[in-house]
Amino acid sequence: GHASLVDSIVIIGLGRFGQSLALELMADGADVLAIDRNEELVQQFNGKITHAVQADATNEEVLRQLGVHEATHAVVAIGDSIEGSLLTSSLLMGFGVRHVWAKAVSDAHGRILSQIGVHHVVHPERESGVRVAHQVRAQLKDYI
Ligand code: ATP
Repeated sequence: GHASLVDSIVIIGLGRFGQSLALELMADGADVLAIDRNEELVQQFNGKITHAVQADATNEEVLRQLGVHEATHAVVAIGDSIEGSLLTSSLLMGFGVRHVWAKAVSDAHGRILSQIGVHHVVHPERESGVRVAHQVRAQLKDYI
């Protein structure tokens, strides 16, 4: 069986966003349970992340077996498959996970995530664009 994963931060999806998040949290000393359906990707993170598991996160029984229903913090880092993102987020909300983050790839995606109660909806590309704009503007001032 699995050790207690209750204290882990659950990250679902190891795309570029999920990977970066998982490695940063590991560097901060957190316990991370990463779930991705891509076996090759999961192999790649074996040993770099506390637990890296190959599984389909839209399967409620599988999530329960992994202890995700008892987690307090979870991030849905699935983007391209809006269906996968919404089904997974809905399961996490149904479990009563206290703090759920999810990545949105469009306004509509973000709106639905909010409607199902996801606590923190993030738009990485948009937020990164805003951040870079501030940096560009700050540097422009040096030329005036
Ligand atoms: P990024 O921009 O962060 O690279 P992306 O927006 O392209 O990611 P996807 O490729 O859709 O997002 O998803 C990221 C990861 O989520 C992929 O590695 C994919 O295998 C995984 N993933 C997608 N659906 C599921 C699912 N149902 N269960 C588990 N993992 C999934």
